[in-house]
Amino acid sequence: MCGIVGYTGGRQAAPVILDGLTKLEYRGYDSAGIAVSNKSGNIDIVKAKGKLQVLCKVTHNGENLDGFCGIGHTRWATHGEPSENNAHPHCNEDNTIVAVHNGIIENYVPLKEKLIRRGYKFYSETDTEVATKLVDYYYKKYNDPLRALTEFALHARGSYALAVLYKDYPGEIFAIRKDSPMVVGYTDGGAYLASDVPAILKYTRNVYYTDNYEISRLSANGVKFYNLDREETEKQPSVITWDAEAAEKGGFEHFMLKEIHEQPDVVRNTLNCFVRDGEIDFGELNLSDEDFKNFDSVIITGCGSAYHVGVVAQYVIEDLARIPVRVEIASEYRYRNPVLTGKELLVVISQSGETADSLAALREMSAKGIKSLAVVNVVGSSIARAADAVFYTKAGPEISVATTKAYSAQLIAVYLLALKLAKVRKTITENRYKGFLKELATLPEKISGILGNKSEIQKFASEMMDRKDVFFIGRGIDYATCIESSLKLKEISYIHSEAYAAGELKHGTISLIENGTLVLGILTQNSLVEKTISNLKETESRGAYVAVLATEDVAGIPANFRKLFSLPGVDGHFSASIAVVVMQLFAYFLSVLRGNDVDKPRNLAKSVTVE
Ligand code: GLU
Repeated sequence: MCGIVGYTGGRQAAPVILDGLTKLEYRGYDSAGIAVSNKSGNIDIVKAKGKLQVLCKVTHNGENLDGFCGIGHTRWATHGEPSENNAHPHCNEDNTIVAVHNGIIENYVPLKEKLIRRGYKFYSETDTEVATKLVDYYYKKYNDPLRALTEFALHARGSYALAVLYKDYPGEIFAIRKDSPMVVGYTDGGAYLASDVPAILKYTRNVYYTDNYEISRLSANGVKFYNLDREETEKQPSVITWDAEAAEKGGFEHFMLKEIHEQPDVVRNTLNCFVRDGEIDFGELNLSDEDFKNFDSVIITGCGSAYHVGVVAQYVIEDLARIPVRVEIASEYRYRNPVLTGKELLVVISQSGETADSLAALREMSAKGIKSLAVVNVVGSSIARAADAVFYTKAGPEISVATTKAYSAQLIAVYLLALKLAKVRKTITENRYKGFLKELATLPEKISGILGNKSEIQKFASEMMDRKDVFFIGRGIDYATCIESSLKLKEISYIHSEAYAAGELKHGTISLIENGTLVLGILTQNSLVEKTISNLKETESRGAYVAVLATEDVAGIPANFRKLFSLPGVDGHFSASIAVVVMQLFAYFLSVLRGNDVDKPRNLAKSVTVE
């Protein structure tokens, strides 16, 4: 989850590294640190608790640190509180080996005990210090910087992107990864290392996506890669085609607001890539019509909002394609022993393509021979590489921790999957199929319409800003929208909220409704709105303040219910795409009004690369 940046070359390293880290702050931000090898060959380390700005201030944006080779880190603490002491980089006793790390070393306790028995002392609570000293141990034993890393990989369990400076190898950065992302970039006079592309995009578009257990060795003269046998390997570089500006705020106050506003384009681009001449074209997916015919069920897995996309998909795919669908939280599914026929399609959804639990669930299922389709946003990410087929959502880089546009793009992916399955399995007529595709093409404009009227939502948010509890209720796909809406609200406004299937409320939860509790009903599913309205009335009778988000054609809404927004009419299968935009804005405005850090909400990080 943390951000790592490394640089070696002709420029002063620290400003480049700190600049790169600002682009990765969404990955971790409770403390930060940097290490640079200086002119005399020693390694200087500066660390600071709090946001990256603190470190930038202490080092005058890096200008105070001389040297042309270094590594930096923003931390999302897993082992040990956020403090200067626990912040990375970590070092060995004589400061000759210095490392930054993203991930978790699961067996750090026995490793630490072993090292203590060998005379090592520890100054922090982190697993990373253990990793650093393990490298030190093997470096001293074999006197080989590559061997030290391969021995580390042999003995450490868990996940890591580990970047190391050895005093004996000035001007070089060594790195190894397993299940945590790392890209390497190069130019004529320098080499870069980063957890994610935006950190180095300003300097280079030529990158290598490194593989598990692959060692990278960076110097001003170029980049080399080695396998675990320490043999040099050939690697194909990739060229990044998207623009550095895509990772800037572009005049918006927050990345989240910018990304909410990008949704019409994102939906349009994703549709345009996979729908041509009124036909779904999954040519680039590496799945044939025969495959789609032969699957006997669909299993969808993901975490957080990606899981919520799966919940929408379950309704849509089952209704249209008449094939059983299960949705599973990845962190649970990976440890289950599911009953399988071998003919399932596994769909793994993840914005970053690095979500540790989703990746692990995918690997478990692949080992059982289950065919997989990844729905991911980041090209070349671990999940994309591990799956049999990849649907790349065209959301562009998403920086705000709370997802908006990637969620919307993922919805398009699952709608298209539903329609493809329905067509191949002949569960809908050609006419309905074409009609659905036409309806999908109207979504961008409908979303734009909502964005053009956001002041209504802002006003509602300002009236609700002191609420302590909010309940979102709905049925069918509206329930699926509720769980995402509730998550968005919790993530960035820190207001407690619950999402409930409307019919489930009276089975216990209704006891939490008090005078003035805000209950938000989503009403877009024509055949279910009457039922949900009854459930809303039940809460109103117990003191709730009821507001509704309904499509304009919904009739029978009691006059005293507050209308939050009137949604443009849309086929019920796709209403989540419209309704969620209002709820994203509601959460956004509440977060701003309450003075929160919208793009970097407390305790959260994007790209959750730990379990
Ligand atoms: N496990 C390490 C720590 O707690 C690294 C966390 C991270 O990825 O930022 O320091």
